[in-house]
Amino acid sequence: MPTAAELVDRLTLVVPDFPEPGVLFRDLTPTLADAEALRAITDELVGAFAGGFDLVAGIEARGFLLAAAAAYAAGTGVVAVRKAGKLPPRTLIEHYELEYGSAAIEIRAEQLVPGTRVLVLDDVLATGGTVEATCALLERAGAVVAGVGVVLELAALGGRQRLGGRPVHALRGV
Ligand code: AMP
Repeated sequence: MPTAAELVDRLTLVVPDFPEPGVLFRDLTPTLADAEALRAITDELVGAFAGGFDLVAGIEARGFLLAAAAAYAAGTGVVAVRKAGKLPPRTLIEHYELEYGSAAIEIRAEQLVPGTRVLVLDDVLATGGTVEATCALLERAGAVVAGVGVVLELAALGGRQRLGGRPVHALRGV
């Protein structure tokens, strides 16, 4: 039976110059559309942190797909970490820098009971800015980041180093 990493290698599309020139975009949508790959990815992400989390947070947008599957498999709830402006009040917001420009993410403030152990999921860890902001947001809300799970880690961009000592599990490094 192929491993999750083998299925990711086989099914993920690598698209040059998208969404802008110079970016090598890793498109995981065909991977997540494959039943065997979705199951293998979900099982590995949940298994890496088994028993250590009470809630799963998915980062917009492909992180939502992973988080819902993982939460269902682990028997927890799921929260959406959304781009700014999509959630009704009251929200907590965190601003962060991108390579060009800035961005902001939000969560609903009342969704997190202080002390909740949260597993953060996204598709790709690149510079780490998005996951770092997500962890800061969850911690400001009183939650504990139990771990960070991603399908692909673009290791040369150093995202993991920005996440301090938080445990990170990547299915595949590229
Ligand atoms: P970063 O904040 O730089 O770690 O970027 C991570 C976010 O941007 C994730 O939500 C990814 O979906 C997306 N992303 C960044 N770089 C790529 C890439 N090369 N291919 C696919 N998605 C990417």
